[in-house]
Amino acid sequence: MQNAPSFDNHTRHGIINSMSLAPDLLKILVCPRCKGRLLLTPAEDGLGCSKCLVAYPVTDDIPVMIFEEAVPWTPGADPGNA
Ligand SMILES: [Zn+2]
Repeated sequence: MQNAPSFDNHTRHGIINSMSLAPDLLKILVCPRCKGRLLLTPAEDGLGCSKCLVAYPVTDDIPVMIFEEAVPWTPGADPGNA
């Protein structure tokens, strides 16, 4: 009784495609200014540095790791960081 496993695969594929940024990318990316770890912003539209208090924007799924392009950001706004 193998019941249409392709449907489940298709659903997972859609979830993967909808992700804006790969989790593995967060592990290797560091702040270009302080070389510290980066956090994904709650809106998942940028990578924030809790030391420099800036977020690097993500454009077309590509993080813009340029300090001059970063915007002010504070990690306190992240509800999952309590
Ligand atoms: Zn930094």
